[in-house]
Parts: sequence; C-alpha cells; structure tokens
Amino acid sequence: DIKPNSVLYLNNVSVSFDGFKALNSLSIVIEPGELRAIIGPNGAGKTTMMDIITGKTRPDEGEVYFNGEIDLTKKDEADIAQLGIGRKFQKPTVFESHTVWDNLELALNRKRGVFPTLFYRLSSDDKARIEEILKTVRLTHRSDELAASLSHGQKQWLEIGMLLAQEPKLLLVDEPVAGMTDAETVETAILLREIAKTRSVVVVEHDMGFIRDLGVKVTCLAEGCVLAEGSIDFVSSDAKVIENYLGR
Ligand code: ADP
Repeated sequence: DIKPNSVLYLNNVSVSFDGFKALNSLSIVIEPGELRAIIGPNGAGKTTMMDIITGKTRPDEGEVYFNGEIDLTKKDEADIAQLGIGRKFQKPTVFESHTVWDNLELALNRKRGVFPTLFYRLSSDDKARIEEILKTVRLTHRSDELAASLSHGQKQWLEIGMLLAQEPKLLLVDEPVAGMTDAETVETAILLREIAKTRSVVVVEHDMGFIRDLGVKVTCLAEGCVLAEGSIDFVSSDAKVIENYLGR
C-alpha cells in the first residue's frame, strides 16, 4: 500500500551487515512539507536509514517510496539526488577558499549540470535566488567574505544554503547543531522551520533542547526500528525511550 500523499514512505525496511540487523522492519512516513526530528542512541540505525533513502545502501527487504510513487530501491545515488533528495552530512564541506556568494553560485551551477565553475553568467533570476538563500541562511552580511572566515555554525548554514540551491524536495540533515553555540542552535531551529515551509526536512539530532525548540513530531529509533513516535513530550516520557536513550 503506497501512500499517495507522502514524500517518503518506508515500509518494513530491513538491512543486515554481516548478520547484524542495522534496520529491523523500520517503517516511517514523512508528509509533504513536514519537518521531522529523528532521535535515538548510537547504533540505532539513523545513519543507515539516511543511507537507504539516498541509495547509498540497498535494503534487503521492504519498500522505500519517494513522492508516493517512485521506488527508490530501484534507483542509484545519482538518480536519487537528481530526483530532489538532498543530504547534509554532519561535517560541513564548504569551499573554504571561496567567498560565501561563490559557494552558493557553484552550488547553483552544479544543479544546472554545468561543470562547477564561476565563469558561467548568472541570470538576474539566479542572482535573486542566491540573495534569497543568503537571507534564509542568515549570511547576507557575510556574502563577500571567504567561507574560511565563518564560524562553525555559519559554515553549517552555508552548506544548507548550498543544498537549497539544488531545490531539493526533501532535505536530510545529520546533526546540524553539533558544535554550534547556543545562539546558533536556537537560530538553526528557526531556520529549519522556515526551510520546511517549502519542502520536507528530516533532521537527526541528539540535542534535546534543540529538538524541543523545533516543536515537531519526533521519531525515536532503537535497534533498527521505531521505538516511539509523536510529540516531544509524548516520546520523552515513553518508558522504552527513557530506558534505551534518554536515561543513559
Ligand atoms: P546511528 O546512526 O543511529 O548511530 P548506524 O545506522 O550508523 O546507527 O548503525 C547501525 C548499526 O549498523 C551499528 O551497529 C553499526 O555498527 C552498523 N553498521 C552501519 N553501517 C555499517 C556497515 N557499512 N557495515 C557494517 N556495519 C554497519
């Protein structure tokens, strides 16, 4: 049963590595425009779930559908990126020796499929788009500065901006606030909520203050499947979640 109104539909997904079940019948549905937080102890399968969605790992069993109809288990990583699934890994990977603006320009050109270069003439629409992204990721005032001069948190925002330049329909974000200042962490919750107004976002985080700030539906994974799902108050008072994760 494929959910027609879902951006992401994982049904009974399992995958083993050397006989160890990293995902054990995991089912998760993300709605259009939803911002979902994923929590859970180390080894719960969060990264493996992201790997399955982006085609880096193939499931042994189960269904993975994008936009209700596209079977992601039949696509490779490049196809899936092209379909509009963007992924931000934990460590920022911006071009340090380029300006903030040029990083975004390179990302925009990458989407167009032209060899990443700064010698491609930007249309006025492209410039407007870059300005809009700069605003979204709070970097308008740093536009002409080298990415190397940004704080760790600002680099994370710049990389989110670079992904936005590719116009993803679904954005997967891995531990964005690790290493951020408190102020940056608070701002990141606001920023992700804004981004989720025009696309779906799945964010994996350990920072419970941040998760609470997000104020969205939370899924707690453990041992490769869903332990609890619902509001942060519901999930954080679940006895199994306390035993397997919060109480540790
Ligand atoms: P999390 O991101 O929640 O910490 P992971 O998805 O990274 O969890 O890992 C789930 C389990 O699967 C862990 O026990 C991990 O050691 C194992 N695992 C993940 N990827 C591989 C792999 N490529 N080869 C072998 N074991 C793996």
